[in-house]
Amino acid sequence: MGRETEMEEEARENGGVDSVLPMASLISPSGNEVQLSELEGKIIGLYFAANWYPKCEAFTPALTAAYHRLKEHGAGFEVVFVSCDESRPSFERFHRAMPWPAVPFGDIGCKKRLSERFQVEGIPRLVVLAPDGEVIQPDAVELVHRYGDRAFPFTLARVAELEADEQRKFASQTLEKIFSINGKGYVNGSQQQVPISSLVGKTVGLYFSAHRCAPCIKFTAKLAAIYINLKGKAQDFEIIYIPMDKEEDGYLQSCSDMPWLALPYDDGASSGALARYFDVREIPMLVVVGPDGKTVTREGRNLVNLYFDMAFPFTDEQIRLLQEMEDEAAKGYPTSLRHTGHRHELSIVSDKSGGGPYICCECEEQGLGWAYQCIACGYEIHLRCGRDMEGGSAGSIG
Ligand SMILES: [Zn+2]
Ligand SMILES: [Zn+2]
Repeated sequence: MGRETEMEEEARENGGVDSVLPMASLISPSGNEVQLSELEGKIIGLYFAANWYPKCEAFTPALTAAYHRLKEHGAGFEVVFVSCDESRPSFERFHRAMPWPAVPFGDIGCKKRLSERFQVEGIPRLVVLAPDGEVIQPDAVELVHRYGDRAFPFTLARVAELEADEQRKFASQTLEKIFSINGKGYVNGSQQQVPISSLVGKTVGLYFSAHRCAPCIKFTAKLAAIYINLKGKAQDFEIIYIPMDKEEDGYLQSCSDMPWLALPYDDGASSGALARYFDVREIPMLVVVGPDGKTVTREGRNLVNLYFDMAFPFTDEQIRLLQEMEDEAAKGYPTSLRHTGHRHELSIVSDKSGGGPYICCECEEQGLGWAYQCIACGYEIHLRCGRDMEGGSAGSIG
């Protein structure tokens, strides 16, 4: 046992915050020293993160919002940033965006010991410790994303409570309850306001999107084509745009691109609440609510990409049917072929023979299950995208 570990061991037995955190002092975002004694008696979140990693950049605002709310309520909570940044300037830039102290960038020994003690392999990671150093949650990132400040104090009992709440909420969900969030009872149509009550009984897609988001714009065009198609078939289907735009300007532009309804703009208050309710982490996202007001799927975007308007009404039953149809259709395809986009022969695979979710190298859309694949190169395309290319070899699968 090394001398340092011995000292830590001894300190742990004595209790106190210096037994929990193996550093001399902390540093505030503005660069001032913060005494460890300020953490005394508090629940501590050790936040392992780095500025270059998008998931950390996405998580920091969520943790900051929860942190501020907990501070307002006087909860005994503190966060300590343990930087995995590669340079001091990037550490300082990232830390300035946070309201809590950090382990000094130069205290490499401390950072190393902390990440070893808590076996930090991926970031972001939020290890929550009780005042006595006991681990309450080995990783609370998901909990903070999902529940914000309500996750405090992050105990198993608290998590069970929140989950039970959530189940109750989803079990009693109706379209009107979902939209009671904006307190208006209507959404905007192109000519007039449409009362939510008039949408009850339909399959309704809640489309979380923003104007300044390239994948959203691409998906909007596809969804619009499908929407018009389904409307043409007189399906009981409606879509409501839930704006994730930061400015009203973007909202108005999105509305002009979309042939469906829109939640009235209110600086993001209602959209933010809906995004939290449906746990929207990235956009575009299409949540589908069934005629009974219950959530059918949060995977509407994938289903539209995979099955186009055939995905309607997005139920498990419909998806199973489509998969069976695909299995049937695959029998008509050659077991292998040469495709102009790739130099090796491609073999047909299904989810039973090594296929899985993929992005088609030909059309860049999602695929699932059946594919033509070059396993050596990781090259995969849809069956439909491999068709009509030169030199398909004969033979079919049974
Ligand atoms: Zn394709
Ligand atoms: Zn290859």
